Amino acid sequence: MSANPYPLGLRLAGRRVVVVGGGAVATRRVPALLDAGADVLLVAPELTPALRGHVDAGRLRWEPRRFAPADLDGAWLVQVAVDEPLAAASVSAAAAERRIFCVRADDRAAATAWTPAVTRHGPVTVAVLGGGDPRRAMGVRDAIRDLLSASRGLPSAPPAVATPTRGRAAPVGPAPAGARPAGRVALVGAGPGDPELITVKGWRLLTEADVVVADRLVPGLLLDELRPDVELVDASKIPYGPSRAQEEINRILVDRALAGKVVVRLKGGDPYVFGRGGEELLACASAGVPVTVVPGVTSAVAVPAVAGIPVTHRAVAHEFTVVSGHVAPDSPTSLVRWEALAGLRGTLVVLMGLKNLAAITATLVGHGRDPGTPVAVVQEGTTSGERTLRSTLAAVAADVVTAGLRPPAIVVIGDVVGTLDT
Ligand code: SAH
Repeated sequence: MSANPYPLGLRLAGRRVVVVGGGAVATRRVPALLDAGADVLLVAPELTPALRGHVDAGRLRWEPRRFAPADLDGAWLVQVAVDEPLAAASVSAAAAERRIFCVRADDRAAATAWTPAVTRHGPVTVAVLGGGDPRRAMGVRDAIRDLLSASRGLPSAPPAVATPTRGRAAPVGPAPAGARPAGRVALVGAGPGDPELITVKGWRLLTEADVVVADRLVPGLLLDELRPDVELVDASKIPYGPSRAQEEINRILVDRALAGKVVVRLKGGDPYVFGRGGEELLACASAGVPVTVVPGVTSAVAVPAVAGIPVTHRAVAHEFTVVSGHVAPDSPTSLVRWEALAGLRGTLVVLMGLKNLAAITATLVGHGRDPGTPVAVVQEGTTSGERTLRSTLAAVAADVVTAGLRPPAIVVIGDVVGTLDT
């Protein structure tokens, strides 16, 4: 007898939504309401710690008591998240009196609105109602989610930009009907090497790109999966010295974006960790090209982690310092105070440090760091080519030569090396 539901997308920004109950159901429902910008009023004598966190952060208002019908005055929607049938029914009754839709977690038959199973892909939201069977809804939702994330088949609307976008004349948002969509650039961190360590957002933008400009360190498997019509620019093949090459990359990003293309600048690890991402952002901004930055999993933390080394550990290291070793310690162009680093007790993570390793370790020991400090060198971390060498500060430079380790490699110095060995 029950008629089909009528699907709607509720625009809740600034509109009052009352949530009755402060337990597990409310904990699960509140984040999506907040994400929709709703003005959430939570009525419950007690809250879970997660809900209390939202209250403490000022994201919603909490009435620490039981529900009263007047709580619904001015509300557009109510979510019942209590399992006491009588209490739930009294909320339903108060909602019906005021013509407010009421979602019931405890009794879907008594509800006037149902929450669908949802998957979100940037600007696209897929909501599934399972005809009374939530598990069927979730199964369908999971299948669609897999399809959307596996295929490049998302209708390619320009990427929604949830993070702040910089750049003069940044035309963010949907292009006017009929106009060519504005070009844009996303600086995306590809992660340290394992293709699965890109972020969900980075992956989505990659699947939406018209042009991908990739670094040498970017996992090849990510590029393998691009649509055939995507223009792939291999930044490591640009035939100039490093600074001309950077200018050339900046030019390619700006030109393609001004031609209306969606450009992904894909960089190893995180774009802003020794990645020259800042220079690219500035080049785009001065050309009026909007830029989205998508942070990545940096090799500085992830490569040691996957090799079994935590960069901090309770009672072992309460700090870690990430430093580039590409300039020798005694070079006049060095910006690193190695003698100060020698005085630290915590973990030192050196990127691009193989060439100067002998000078770096000698400088650290010379300024007081214990020559017996454990050191690990991890080459091509998080990939199938990973090689790890364990040594000490005094011996590591020679050991690396003997073992024939090559870049890219990360050097981890400190007592965290070996803490997880069993
Ligand atoms: N933006 C990158 C770092 C670029 S600098 C990031 O956040 O990870 C390049 C250096 O990073 C390499 O010389 C090496 O020291 C380190 N590196 C990057 N990927 C690595 C990997 N898979 N294994 C070991 N070192 C890596």
